Amino acid sequence: MERIMQKTNILNANPDILAGIVRSFGQKEFRARQIFGWLSKGVESFDDMSNIPAALRAKLEEEYYIGLPKVIVEQQSKTDGTRKCLFEFADGARVESVFMKYSYGNSICISSQVGCRMGCSFCASTMSGLERNLTAGEMLGQILKMRNITGEDIGHVVVMGMGEPFDNYDNLAEFIRLVNNPLGYGLGMRNITVSTCGIVPMIERFGRDFPQVNLAVSLHASNEERRKQLMPVARAYGYDELISACRSYAEKTGRRVTFEYSMIDGVNDSVQTANELASHLKGWQTHVNLIPLNKVEGRSYNAAVNSNIMQFKKTLENAGIAVTVRRTLGADIDAACGQLRNR
Ligand code: SAH
Repeated sequence: MERIMQKTNILNANPDILAGIVRSFGQKEFRARQIFGWLSKGVESFDDMSNIPAALRAKLEEEYYIGLPKVIVEQQSKTDGTRKCLFEFADGARVESVFMKYSYGNSICISSQVGCRMGCSFCASTMSGLERNLTAGEMLGQILKMRNITGEDIGHVVVMGMGEPFDNYDNLAEFIRLVNNPLGYGLGMRNITVSTCGIVPMIERFGRDFPQVNLAVSLHASNEERRKQLMPVARAYGYDELISACRSYAEKTGRRVTFEYSMIDGVNDSVQTANELASHLKGWQTHVNLIPLNKVEGRSYNAAVNSNIMQFKKTLENAGIAVTVRRTLGADIDAACGQLRNR
């Protein structure tokens, strides 16, 4: 009888798993480290692994594939070097990744899920719900493919694309270990940032598991009632509970928490709101990143006007809160993430 075998994405394998694979093929274990090194370089075919014996490459080819995504759409900003890709994995699942240039180096924003089930009322990624989780190798694959496309080093990774990373915690954790592994991509823990909508129990766990990885929390409101309107997750975890989890994260890890705050016209952009926000964040290590809302097709919200954003910033600053306004990169190519996929 014919055996129908589905190939496995080898990008999910760490050096220990690879060691088991090469042993099962009767090969020496050091081959696993070589293969892991090749994969982290972004090779697209086993035949590119030039120091691996042909027989072993053929064995790998029979059972595994290198699960780098295909590029479906690529957009490049004419003004600032930002590149945005709609990627597709072997099963047809599509996600977005964005490559950005900063003064401190190149950065990529990757997705952690295909779609999202968090339901934030201003966000494009969640409009058709969650399709599936991404695996660790698929998160890594976005970085490797983007590096292949751009030909540039990528030294910073933010998990801030489609999906809620803490709703896919185990794969996120494995991804961090994979990309950090010095035998592979070797990205420093401090060069990774994970952004969550505020799944409180996971914040504590993340602080314990990865105390050196940066944490960003999407806050977007100054009180419970407003946050519930914007973000359904706030019904499960209250405002005060979230703030105190972040505060204890900062105390335990010694690292500041970044709060993302998307500014929506007439919803969360008043001076009164800024003062209320400041009252929650005063006296401990935080940083607020104000983001002018990206208008999403099919959503009623609009971006706050610039003068309100500046007033809001000033009010926080006067209260002693560290605050920046996010530079709008790639404004000329579909900005808000999730929009490319929806189209
Ligand atoms: N689920 C995670 C990470 C993905 S979203 C999280 O919620 O943090 C990345 C950031 O973009 C979040 O702060 C999110 O609230 C914000 N965002 C989503 N849609 C936006 C839009 N249309 N305009 C501005 N920011 C948006």
